[in-house]
Amino acid sequence: MPESSHAQRFLSGRSFGGPGKYIQRAGEMGRLAHHLQPLGKTAFLLVDGCVIEKMGQAIERSFAGSGISIRLERFGGECCTEEIERVTALVRAAKADIVVGIGGGKTADTAKLAAIANDARIVIAPTIASTDAPCSAVAVRYTAQGICEEALFLSRNPDLVIVDSAVIAKAPVRFLVAGIGDALSTWYEARSNLDSRSANLVQPNLPAPAAAIAIARACHDVLMRDALAAKIAVEKGLLTQAVENIIEANTLLSGLGFENCGVSAAHGIHDGLTVLHGTHGFLHGEKVAFGVLCLLMLEGRPLIEIEETARFCAALGLPTRLADLGLADASPADIGRVAEASLKPGSSIYKVAVPLSPEIVRDAILSLDAFTRELTSHARA
Ligand SMILES: [Zn+2]
Repeated sequence: MPESSHAQRFLSGRSFGGPGKYIQRAGEMGRLAHHLQPLGKTAFLLVDGCVIEKMGQAIERSFAGSGISIRLERFGGECCTEEIERVTALVRAAKADIVVGIGGGKTADTAKLAAIANDARIVIAPTIASTDAPCSAVAVRYTAQGICEEALFLSRNPDLVIVDSAVIAKAPVRFLVAGIGDALSTWYEARSNLDSRSANLVQPNLPAPAAAIAIARACHDVLMRDALAAKIAVEKGLLTQAVENIIEANTLLSGLGFENCGVSAAHGIHDGLTVLHGTHGFLHGEKVAFGVLCLLMLEGRPLIEIEETARFCAALGLPTRLADLGLADASPADIGRVAEASLKPGSSIYKVAVPLSPEIVRDAILSLDAFTRELTSHARA
């Protein structure tokens, strides 16, 4: 059904989805075996390479005497067809009834896909809080070279999400800040979907329930209150209440919020930005944060709201100008290519309730950049 059709815009009903259980506490990685016991007998653990080196032995030891047999496998690094097929075959060979993804968002997505292909339970244990992947029934597939291919909508959410706050507080702060950038999009994109009366991402894709809208608002409130304090604490490797609150916002509130309310132009422009090579070294949430500012300009929001959001991003070190994303030399024609890519069929950008064309999107990005450059030069003066 076309995004803008009358029937799509005036859907009635509500849909809501989320993980079966979410537990966030310092030290929880050491209690994985206890959490897995009600789910099955044979667990396949797909683990990021750097996590295996730091915690692999401790994780294996924690299963001793638990009655659960485990197979630990190193994640190949990309959620691409080759890796999904490889892990799916290994899970089948191991006859695992639980698949656990331990690491970042791509590990989580590969674990979800391999579990569903094998009818196994899904457990996600993120070791960084850089995206809202852990809780959702969405997986993003890339090419082996890391180019985004498609979002896959899965039949089930994870059964269990285990977040060890102490592990996340010790990870590089850049990941937490990127997660804040991704979480920042949750309320603004929910608002686009409310304005355009769009369906959410939970099949059969109905309007967001009040519960989800409240979660998206709460996500925003927690970010505004605690993001800076959390960043400062994690820079020192400290675990405070602000850090716990931001881990929850980045992982649970943002995950439930985006899936149950829908995404819009912050993610659409993020996807468009990936056509320019300069952006390739940046994390998903960093590009999404810039996409949020462009979304606000595209929707014609009050300048004071754009200014406050840009100052929030700048205080955390999130990009607010094209130059901050490696695009200091991008021409208007380059940004035109970003705009065209962000308008590809099926893009989430179509969830905004304003007219769209390549020129409109390009000019929103360029005028946002001009505005934030002016803010920065005033800050320096
Ligand atoms: Zn995102």
